[in-house]
Amino acid sequence: MATIGAVTRQIAALEISAKKPAATTASSSSNPVRPGHSKQPSQEKVTKLLTKFAAPVNPNHPPSSKLAPSSSSLRNQTNQAQAHTSNEAPKKASPVPTHQPIDIGRYDGGLEKENEERGEKVYGDAASELALDSSVARRYPTREWNLHSFDIGRPLGKGKFGRVYMVRTKSEPKYILALKTLYKSEIVQSRVEKQIRREIEIQQNLRHPNVLRLYGYFHDEKRIFLMLEFAGKGELYKQLSKHGSFSEKRSARYIDQMADALSYLHSKHVIHRDIKPENLLLGINGELKVADFGWSVHAPGNRRKTMCGTLDYLPPEMVEQKEHNERVDHWALGVLTYEFLIGNPPFEDRDSVNNTYRRIASVDLRFPITCRPTLEISLPGYLLKHEPQDRLPLSEVMKHPWIVKYRPKGQIRPSQLGM
Ligand code: AMP
Repeated sequence: MATIGAVTRQIAALEISAKKPAATTASSSSNPVRPGHSKQPSQEKVTKLLTKFAAPVNPNHPPSSKLAPSSSSLRNQTNQAQAHTSNEAPKKASPVPTHQPIDIGRYDGGLEKENEERGEKVYGDAASELALDSSVARRYPTREWNLHSFDIGRPLGKGKFGRVYMVRTKSEPKYILALKTLYKSEIVQSRVEKQIRREIEIQQNLRHPNVLRLYGYFHDEKRIFLMLEFAGKGELYKQLSKHGSFSEKRSARYIDQMADALSYLHSKHVIHRDIKPENLLLGINGELKVADFGWSVHAPGNRRKTMCGTLDYLPPEMVEQKEHNERVDHWALGVLTYEFLIGNPPFEDRDSVNNTYRRIASVDLRFPITCRPTLEISLPGYLLKHEPQDRLPLSEVMKHPWIVKYRPKGQIRPSQLGM
């Protein structure tokens, strides 16, 4: 059986070697739009993206589609880019064996069952606001995505608005994806229509190996479906809970990838604002994937005041209800570094929320007595500064001796490749 790992290594390699400039943001699009919904890539574009980036079952036997890359180009690109993307020393990529389907696991019938028991049709403005579909079949007859386009596999998890399943496209080449369901009526009840649309608009335009890809989306009467990159190793939070904390090497490599992903996001004027272990997934090679753009905001030149994010990761300016900018993500990176190394966030006070606020506002940063005053703990100190402008720039994070010490030899960060 072809391992998912082997296939994903090829995708990761393709992501790097494609070196496509990131698409313009939703707000800057001049594409024809549906009422209230900015940029919508055409179906053809979604198919192209899938062809380029998602995991085919059998890349040595490409589909008849003229959009598909040749098998040799797949293999060649893998070999070239492997050294740049892998966390380990460069090594030769193993081609994916032929005629080997990837096991997507057993479907539990949950989508149909849930659809009967959960959610209602939505009408009026909410219905048009949530009629989210990345297909635009206007001048060209293009293939529309719907639930029947996929073989459904094992459940991957449950989110607030619905389940996530591992799926495979029925048409060749059979891509592996994560399909996320969102119940429209629950979105309306929670009054987050705009937030969900924003999350989708932001994520569909991002292309970085450490940012979870959104390939396309469609909807039916009750639900919205997101076609997401499959993160084979699941939630980082589970790993952290299992191990308590991470080794220096593992922490440094995650922080390196995070700094690169955040630096990419900020270059696109996207502030994530909700960086925490629960919102990070892991690819099959253990590479980090920033997910969950529910709180992110696309704010070119904009300073914002909305209080958001998770308590332990909130920066002083949010606690103090001041304006904030992209430096909130630098603060969260400091909290994340501390939590990876020590096992709990630095300002946590399980007995009192007010105390946590107080500790954040006064940057009451303490290290356990057992902690050696070494290199690794200097990084949270540089990032956890009260004044946003005093926090270490992300380019400097990636040059910090502790990060450089653990970076795999010969590895080039995506930002250095101009991504
Ligand atoms: P969410 O609704 O995004 O919070 O997702 C619920 C759960 O489904 C997550 O906690 C993950 O365990 C899983 N999940 C979500 N997206 C993916 C993905 N792209 N790949 C793998 N697992 C996922």
